[in-house]
Amino acid sequence: MTVTCYFCNKDLPNSQMKHCARCLLVTYCSKECQTLSWKASHKQSCRIHPSFAPSTDPKTVNGRWSFGRRNSRHSGLVLHA
Ligand SMILES: [Zn+2]
Ligand SMILES: [Zn+2]
Repeated sequence: MTVTCYFCNKDLPNSQMKHCARCLLVTYCSKECQTLSWKASHKQSCRIHPSFAPSTDPKTVNGRWSFGRRNSRHSGLVLHA
């Protein structure tokens, strides 16, 4: 399976390609292509991938954490009783 470099249009095996670490939508054959593409245009179109941006939904993350903590504290109380 080959993927085309977003900048130089070279086709390379998927395993050799690097994804843009922010949006995961574009692939590059090398760090040079990534850097050049970023400067040329991608910085204007790049959007942080939702799964990489917990800051866009902090309530969900905090809710999960406090729920987990409350659960373990509760089971501790059960053990003491
Ligand atoms: Zn390239
Ligand atoms: Zn990007």
